[in-house]
Amino acid sequence: MHSNKSFRDLKPFEQKIWLSSPTVHGDDEMKYVREAFETNWLSTVGANINECEKITAAKIGCEYAVALSAGTAALHLSVRLAAERLYGPAPAGVGALMGHKVFCSDMTFDATVNPVAYEGGEAVFIDSERDTWNMDPKALERAFEIYPDVRLVVIAHLYGTPAKMDKIRKVCNAHDALIIEDAAESFGASYKGRQTGSLGDYGVISFNGNKIITGSSGGMFLTDSREDADKVRKWSTQSREDAPWYQHEELGYNYRMSNIIAGMIRGQLGHLEDHIQAKKDIYYRYKEGLKDMPLSMNPFDKANSEPNFWLSCAIIDEDAMCKTVRGENDYLYVSESGKSCPSEILDVLAHFNAEGRPIWKPMHMQPIYRNHPFITAEGNGRARSNAYIDEGRALDVGADIFRRGLCLPSDNKMTHEQQDAIIEMICRCFV
Ligand SMILES: *Cc1c(COP(=O)(O)O)cnc(C)c1O
Repeated sequence: MHSNKSFRDLKPFEQKIWLSSPTVHGDDEMKYVREAFETNWLSTVGANINECEKITAAKIGCEYAVALSAGTAALHLSVRLAAERLYGPAPAGVGALMGHKVFCSDMTFDATVNPVAYEGGEAVFIDSERDTWNMDPKALERAFEIYPDVRLVVIAHLYGTPAKMDKIRKVCNAHDALIIEDAAESFGASYKGRQTGSLGDYGVISFNGNKIITGSSGGMFLTDSREDADKVRKWSTQSREDAPWYQHEELGYNYRMSNIIAGMIRGQLGHLEDHIQAKKDIYYRYKEGLKDMPLSMNPFDKANSEPNFWLSCAIIDEDAMCKTVRGENDYLYVSESGKSCPSEILDVLAHFNAEGRPIWKPMHMQPIYRNHPFITAEGNGRARSNAYIDEGRALDVGADIFRRGLCLPSDNKMTHEQQDAIIEMICRCFV
């Protein structure tokens, strides 16, 4: 730990406090997993899968939910569906997005955007807005001015906070573009009374181990179109045709959810609302405990949205930032009285056995995507390296939030005492 501040009277947590680990309820999940074993429905067919699809579709408010092996699989099949609708089917081995650009959220996990590359498309990254940290509708509008031929937008609701979907939808409608909604992190969050995952043309949620509801892995494709649901179900089970033998007309995938995983999810689904409540309590406990510090919590659109508060995050005021630089895989900072930075806070938390994390590093700053176009509200931005932003204030919103922001330990099993101790550690960083 480089921090030279005083933490000597504080004790490390005996058990690690996680960023967000699975919260399980014993027999609630086990009974359905056991049922799968006892009835020998251990493959990708069974009552657990059917029930999970039914419950999820009802919760989201869409007609169909298709259970898949991961959120990433759901995103991939959404991308392929959208591409075929826009540009027609592609032969096996040729990406369905070959030669086409797609507008994508910039500040997100890379699983949001990788499926565009799986299909040969080129992601164009759209800068974030300060109000929700999600895709900036103004930057999206600029992007359509620069690339008027684009017909597909992939948008994520970061950390469980809904994006401004009305504005995004309006811009997309004006340009005849389809929306893939990555609600992997935002299951249970709503915007203007409607659930995230039901606001785009194709919706995706994830049941990965760190998400608000988990099957250890798994995901769902969400739609109102029977035809799309059938297609995704078929593609996800190797595209078998209705024939006595293995008959294939289209490229297939092994993306279907297992009935055992579905058993765990089925047991978890009944706890969505209490998990959200616990996450919300954590958010507001941080907000209250840190109210005198030179930082603010991750913002959301209070008038129009209800997040699921999956991760609590903070962003440090510019004038309370100590000197800091980040390389590709390492960092430095100068511990300074009255100031701090995400790296110092994360160092201190790690020292005391608690897991925080930097803000998801924006896609336009990732080496893999650095040569892709990046559009800010001011117009044509440029993908750039870390070194560039460390010279002073970041020029785009995403890089700035990455520089000054961090994800706080947000595990539902953290006690009030533990959270208060974390709050104390953060406060000491600004002494
Ligand atoms: C977790 C996550 C995914 C991927 O979901 P998996 O189920 O892990 O494949 C996609 N997008 C975002 C924003 C995520 O956080």
